[in-house]
Amino acid sequence: MFLSTRISSASKSPFKSKTLITLLPIFRRSSTAAAPPMEVSASEETLRGNLAEKRAAVDSQAEAVRKLKAVGAENSEINVAVDNLKALKVEASAVSRRLQDVLSRNGGSGATDREAFRQAVVNTLERRLFYVASFKIYRGVAGLYDYGPPGCAVKANVLAFWRQHFVLEENMLEVDCPCVTPEIVLKASGHVEKFTDLMVKDEKTGTCYRADHLLKDYCKDKLEKDLSLSTEKFTEIKHVLAVLDDLSAEELGAKLKEYGITAPDTKNPLSDPYPFNLMFQTSIGPSGLSPGYMRPETAQGIFVNFKDLYYYNGNRLPFAAAQIGQAFRNEISPRQGLLRVREFTLAEIEHFVDPKDKSHAKFVDVADLEFLMFPRELQLAGELAKPMVLGEAVWKGIVNNETLGYFIGRVYLFLTHLGIDKERLRFRQHLLNEMAHYAVDCWDAEIECSYGWIECVGIADRSAYDLRAHTVGSNFLQRNQEKSGVPLVAHEKYPEPIEVEKLLITPSKKELGLAFKGNQKMITEALEAMTEAEALEMKAALESKGEIEFLVCNLGKSVSIKKNMVSISIEKKKEHQRVFTPSVIEPSFGIGRIIYCLFEHCFYTRPSKSEDEQLNVFRFPPLVAPIKCTVFPLIKNEKFDETAKIISKSLTAAGISHIIDITGTSIGKRYARTDEIGVPFAITVDSTTSVTIRDRDSKDQIRVSIDEVALVVKEVADGQSTWADIMWSSFAVEADVCRIIALFEGSDLCRPSDHDSMSGTSTLTTRLALESGLVGRIRDTSYVLILPRWHLACFGSLAVLFYPEIRSVLFVPAICGLL
Ligand code: AMP
Repeated sequence: MFLSTRISSASKSPFKSKTLITLLPIFRRSSTAAAPPMEVSASEETLRGNLAEKRAAVDSQAEAVRKLKAVGAENSEINVAVDNLKALKVEASAVSRRLQDVLSRNGGSGATDREAFRQAVVNTLERRLFYVASFKIYRGVAGLYDYGPPGCAVKANVLAFWRQHFVLEENMLEVDCPCVTPEIVLKASGHVEKFTDLMVKDEKTGTCYRADHLLKDYCKDKLEKDLSLSTEKFTEIKHVLAVLDDLSAEELGAKLKEYGITAPDTKNPLSDPYPFNLMFQTSIGPSGLSPGYMRPETAQGIFVNFKDLYYYNGNRLPFAAAQIGQAFRNEISPRQGLLRVREFTLAEIEHFVDPKDKSHAKFVDVADLEFLMFPRELQLAGELAKPMVLGEAVWKGIVNNETLGYFIGRVYLFLTHLGIDKERLRFRQHLLNEMAHYAVDCWDAEIECSYGWIECVGIADRSAYDLRAHTVGSNFLQRNQEKSGVPLVAHEKYPEPIEVEKLLITPSKKELGLAFKGNQKMITEALEAMTEAEALEMKAALESKGEIEFLVCNLGKSVSIKKNMVSISIEKKKEHQRVFTPSVIEPSFGIGRIIYCLFEHCFYTRPSKSEDEQLNVFRFPPLVAPIKCTVFPLIKNEKFDETAKIISKSLTAAGISHIIDITGTSIGKRYARTDEIGVPFAITVDSTTSVTIRDRDSKDQIRVSIDEVALVVKEVADGQSTWADIMWSSFAVEADVCRIIALFEGSDLCRPSDHDSMSGTSTLTTRLALESGLVGRIRDTSYVLILPRWHLACFGSLAVLFYPEIRSVLFVPAICGLL
């Protein structure tokens, strides 16, 4: 708008390295994953074309029938023509149905599904206090939301991971600047003049709307629902959508009028669009003489500190500074919940780099990543985003430079590690008309949710614009003698001094003062601000004619400059260093948008045990889950409560967020309650020496001793191991026993003292060992059966039939060797 596979540790399981080949899920619990439908295929345009052709054919055949009837043609001839007409109508309605299908997936019934899905997610989020409308008891304020306890925890986890993934990994310099910003800063950056959206008003009620949103809604509605759109109209509307961001107030107003768009709530006529500045204005101090604004982004705080940060970094480039903080935008008519709000958390990185060298030392680390990219060529051709290898996109010049590409790759890793679905994440390049004039290349990380594709992270190469703007801004202060001007530049020492020609412009304040009195200052500034070409042209004119007409924009008129008023010379100088304004590459993260999309991507429903209701689950990865585990005493019992408290202490010591649920409710209900806020692990206390840990998604359980439990949960919660790793390492202990059992095959197997005492295997397991040839006991409710391959086919499925407790059959060749 402005200016315009989990990390899995090296396995501790001996199986990982040598034995595990295939896991055949024989029995899997059903779950109804209520995910929103995906985007349409590309055939919509073709189908519209076909439909138009078929309809034209129907019309002309109908005309032919009419003519035959009018001239009194033979019945047989008329019948043939009528049959042809019927056949054409059937073909037309078939194409119409296919088009309807495609549109439904995109908008029609798909939109209803998406709306229902969103309602389910939002209801759960609000009911479980992830977030609520701010000031609710006073009926709330549009675009302002409070995060409740689980929401705060998710946000804190996302920000902690952001710091780890970016600030720590890249040695970024983090700063924390005020939200209240003096006007002069935002004047220099261009926000005071241009941080606007075009607004229209309901002419009768005065209700305000964003003009581009009204046009966008109209166009989308037409494309999704109007089957009778001609190909020309369809192309026109698609084009309007593509250039929407680039329309001037006049063009936007003309389109609203042309399409007859009125106020959505009242159908009243609308005013012409006019710019509305989105910044909240304030004044700093009691006098009211010092205007200021609540910052609309955090970036300016970094730019104005560039000089000090550069020094802090040992006067070396490249380096990056980062800031997390609140941003404020007085959005015209905020809709879409957390996606468009008036106060939100931004996390921004400003990576300063030499404009002559935008390579990145760590680009190789991300070059092989492959994900959905949507370059402008594909957008203009009306195609869909397609998977591309990042390295190729940079080498082919689709992404402008390595540093920009590096950050695209790092953003991809960040979002997917958080739990954003790879299939619903794409990187869309800005169209040329979308980018600010100074920007070199911009890509948005867009995440698909029930509202469509949403820009969540903007990654832009902003060239040297920002630092130049503040250099000019602070020079302006210097000229007004309020403060020293600060050139926000970097230096590169030459190995040997080099000789350069420098243009020197020296206005004579005395002569200018005599000639122009009070205007002298403005004319001096205008002369100093001349470009090299302008200065050389003036020098030539002064030498040949002795004077020249010079336009002074600030005065709004031309003045006559004479030879004695300014000296322009070219001097040779030795230079020891190159002085330049660094370019800025800026990834800018809307934290609320990322979190909302994460909520949608993690939400699903699954049937309860009795299958009579659907239970909500947030499958947050442990990294972002608001609480890492819950502790439940299985039944109300003093001893178990005491054990739960001991476990709680060890979890606290290990830094694991948790809650104890000692309500007498059934265990099933307590699981459902924690699944609904996305707690990944539940510890059930059913003994005073060992407990079970249950995984939220698979519902698998393992048994561990009280002393180990905090460490095990910490390992998975911190991402050092996955749940699968934990299952395997527990299995590995058993597997060693299995091997021993295998070696002692025969009567020895029956001796509980040899085996059951070592592994705690149950009688069932021992029986299985006897019958199947090999053991696989895993914990209380899970059993694993290990078989050589030739056994697998004939015995594996049979065993499952006989022993419904068996969840998986594994093929483990190294153990086959032992057999
Ligand atoms: P921008 O400076 O407009 O490119 O915005 C930077 C990021 O802030 C965007 O990528 C969004 O994720 C986020 N953002 C912008 N405006 C809003 C808003 N009104 N509410 C929530 N997030 C926003």
